[in-house]
Amino acid sequence: MPDTLYIVVPCYNEEDVLPEAIRRLEDKLLRLIGAGLANENSRLLFVDDGSTDKTWEIIEAAHNTSAYNTLTQSTLKHITGIKLSRNKGHQNALIAGLMTAMGKADVTISIDADLQDDIECMDGFLQNYKNGCDIVYGVRSNRKKDSIFKRATAQVFYKLMKWLGVNITYNHADYRLMSKKALEHLSDFKEVNLFLRGIVPLIGFKTATVNYEREKRFAGESKYPVRKMLSFAWDGITSFSVRPIRLVAVFGFIAFLVSIGLMIKFLVDHILGYTVSGWSTLAISIWLIGGLQLLALGMIGEYIGKIYSEVKSRPKYIIEKVLE
Ligand code: UDP
Ligand code: MG
Repeated sequence: MPDTLYIVVPCYNEEDVLPEAIRRLEDKLLRLIGAGLANENSRLLFVDDGSTDKTWEIIEAAHNTSAYNTLTQSTLKHITGIKLSRNKGHQNALIAGLMTAMGKADVTISIDADLQDDIECMDGFLQNYKNGCDIVYGVRSNRKKDSIFKRATAQVFYKLMKWLGVNITYNHADYRLMSKKALEHLSDFKEVNLFLRGIVPLIGFKTATVNYEREKRFAGESKYPVRKMLSFAWDGITSFSVRPIRLVAVFGFIAFLVSIGLMIKFLVDHILGYTVSGWSTLAISIWLIGGLQLLALGMIGEYIGKIYSEVKSRPKYIIEKVLE
């Protein structure tokens, strides 16, 4: 018997997109059930992230009507939803959905409501799951249909993250399959500033990637204006890397070295009588104090960075198997 699949869809003011998204996803789910990749208890789980439009009404209405599955010849109720009390952002909506699904599903797939990600990949996801993968990443093989601006900023972001030492899958958004086991371990990550793309690779287990082409949003507008995008990127960086703090310490150290060099030069100038009196003392103090201050800030920052990671109290390890 195939496993129970929950498809988790965060939605924020998606009234333009939802009716069509529900139709397509429902059709897809029925086909997955028909193909024996998911069982009849599988569901679409819509998360209304505090929308101010008709999003929740649409989800409720869809929940109340049931579709007839011609493949299994049964009437199925497979649309459910949860409503968040207010808008908490994509990542929080997603984790709310995943944690709700965890109790009921054997495996989950998360996908955006605008269906920019190819739903036909789900077969590949589930095939990999059958082959023992606990996490399958959907990876956009090209982003021709995204705007140049979005593409360029995304590229800079991925490069920067890599440079900062954060392990994220290139061109993977939050379209991914996670097994119940992976979700249970995800729930051990207690951090509040969620950046799932960074956290999920930390879980480990057998993973796979499935490539697809990213489509345009078919209706409605992106819920990620530049301001939100930047704050998301900033969250990603500061939740995963203490490198910016280290940079301060490095600058401090460099300034300190420069100050020593300059000190020698100014002293020589002073002895040779090339300068007005008092200037050397001033110039040396500025550099020396500046350098030492930066260095001290960097050092304090280093401890704050340690406190930061302690406070997050991420699981130190995840055990995959125990021999009995
Ligand atoms: N979303 C959400 N809460 C928010 C913003 C977005 O749940 O505060 C959902 C949105 O409904 C969509 C997904 O997150 O299903 C991705 O948003 P969008 O497509 O606008 O982002 P983009 O693809 O432009 O990066
Ligand atoms: Mg989108």
